[in-house]
Amino acid sequence: MKPKKKTIQKTVKKKNLTHPKNVIKPKHKILEFRDSMSVGELAKIIDIGVVKLKTELKKQGIIVKNAKNILDRETCILITEYLGFKVKEEIKPEEKIRKIKKEKVEKKEEKVEEKKEIEIPGLIRRPPVVTVMGHVDHGKTTLLDAIRHSNVIQQEAGGITQHIGAYKVKTEKGEIVFIDTPGHEAFTAMRARGSKITDIVILVIAADDGIMPQTIEAINHVKSANVPVIVAINKIDLPNVNVYKIKQNLVNYGLVAEEFGGDTFFVEISAKNKINIDKLLDTILFKAELMELKSTKEGLGEGVVIESKLDSKKGHVATVLITKGILKVGDIFICGNTYGKVRAIIDTSGKKLQEVIPVEPVEIMGFNTTPIAGDKFSVVKNETDVKEIIEKKLEELKTKKQTKKTISLQELVSQKSKKLNIILKTDVYGSLEAITDLLKKLIIGDIEINIVHSGVGPVNLSDVNLAILSKAIIIGFNIIIDPNAEELIKKESVNVKTYRIIYELIDDIKKFMSGLIQPEYKQIVTGRAIVKKVFHVSNVGTVAGCIVENGVIQRNLKTRLIRDNVIVYDKRIASLRSFKTDVKEVKKGCECGILLENFSDIKPGDILETYILEQVK
Ligand code: GDP
Repeated sequence: MKPKKKTIQKTVKKKNLTHPKNVIKPKHKILEFRDSMSVGELAKIIDIGVVKLKTELKKQGIIVKNAKNILDRETCILITEYLGFKVKEEIKPEEKIRKIKKEKVEKKEEKVEEKKEIEIPGLIRRPPVVTVMGHVDHGKTTLLDAIRHSNVIQQEAGGITQHIGAYKVKTEKGEIVFIDTPGHEAFTAMRARGSKITDIVILVIAADDGIMPQTIEAINHVKSANVPVIVAINKIDLPNVNVYKIKQNLVNYGLVAEEFGGDTFFVEISAKNKINIDKLLDTILFKAELMELKSTKEGLGEGVVIESKLDSKKGHVATVLITKGILKVGDIFICGNTYGKVRAIIDTSGKKLQEVIPVEPVEIMGFNTTPIAGDKFSVVKNETDVKEIIEKKLEELKTKKQTKKTISLQELVSQKSKKLNIILKTDVYGSLEAITDLLKKLIIGDIEINIVHSGVGPVNLSDVNLAILSKAIIIGFNIIIDPNAEELIKKESVNVKTYRIIYELIDDIKKFMSGLIQPEYKQIVTGRAIVKKVFHVSNVGTVAGCIVENGVIQRNLKTRLIRDNVIVYDKRIASLRSFKTDVKEVKKGCECGILLENFSDIKPGDILETYILEQVK
């Protein structure tokens, strides 16, 4: 996407640059770079002329065509320093990462401390659950096969007989559960149903192909789910591959290798030739150890559906990953909108089990209807519970359908972050970059834009899933919506807008953001009364005998009590009376009795005001 940036970064990172002091005299001005800039802009700042800057860049192997070419911030700093200028110190990305890392560890320690105090009995270490993601043809399936063949626990029954959507491997250092459906569709579908079963994602990147659109898609999905990533650079058996370049480019996506000061683990593998597969498994187990994953084998069984089908012989079956408690044949369970009684439990090798404990993927027979991947599975005590729960669920589903409305604009912005999440899809990279730049500059009120994901191509199912999960709107430019995504867009009322003119797109987003700004209100006093006398009425409370000085006192409006210019009460009138009859309003000059809601500290001389709130445009 940004080839210029890549070449530039790579070249200037080389150490031992020769300082051309005799070419340009060092200046004493201290420069500060906050962002990337064009060659022209940089030349202007350091006052050396575009041609000279281009020549100096060229000497370092950085070829720029014209003054409009963009240099990233790091390159600007490096080349300027190299030319003898002083650059104001800012926190380097590596330091930032180290700081974040330290904070994370501290937070974790705090959490551990908290946990220690409320330690749940029966907690045991559990194996991590891993999902493999990445671009098509980068080797996800080959990797899953390679791992399965070399490490799956072989049962006495002999060999692996079936694919059930997940499998468990055993190494000397521990066990790992792999979800056997590669790609991020399965991952997001699970998340969309509220099941966060993946502990670690393996991002497979083919060394000969590098970062591709689905790699970026996967990264953004994983980021939004906050799941740690281990990068597996695959196909290292091929000649002339540049692993360093991939690692360097991944920095732009927040995956920073340890050698660049980050904390993302990278393993170079060949899935086809089974090179470093063990190293990858070790890395997963190491990462899992840091995560201290725990579960319990006590209590009723719980899990998540990975796959399901209607089998002509077995009936409705599902692969369930048991994550908690113990599951036994004969147990009664609820699962999504269905239920059943466990008729058989079958493991990955086809062996029938009587019971199973976490974490284990097993095929379960005995469902009433087919559940959906991502549905939660829980054993219940008895059949009465099942009926009650299912009926309640169906009732909830009905009312949810009836009250389903378009997501409001306010709902789209997280109140804390004040960010409008956007997924941007365009026809070509040129428009993607141009629109991204324009969107990033848009700040309206205190709301700014956060591009959760961007890419070239039609709006697809994966974009829609991500939009649902990250509460984002989808913006398309010169592209169509994949017909497969239409249904989900309608069902979930996802906000998708497509444009053909950039100006209109930006203008619309501006309007959209203006609509998101919290409205400001001003108070308009509609009536004002002064308290003349106070009556204590038993069983009623303190009634203020007032005379209306201004406007109209209306019973149903917000009311405040002012004493010595201080608002001491701000709520509502409980009852308003005029000559012993309940009234809705009392006009200027008239007497009335006012009883305030849950407030009796009223004194003669207090002022009561009724008011309305009017939105400030
Ligand atoms: P997926 O689409 O990500 O699941 O990719 P596949 O696992 O289907 O692999 C795509 C192609 O890459 C197949 O032809 C594999 O044989 C090949 N492939 C996978 N791993 C390697 C590897 O380590 N080295 C080489 N040279 N080819 C590989």
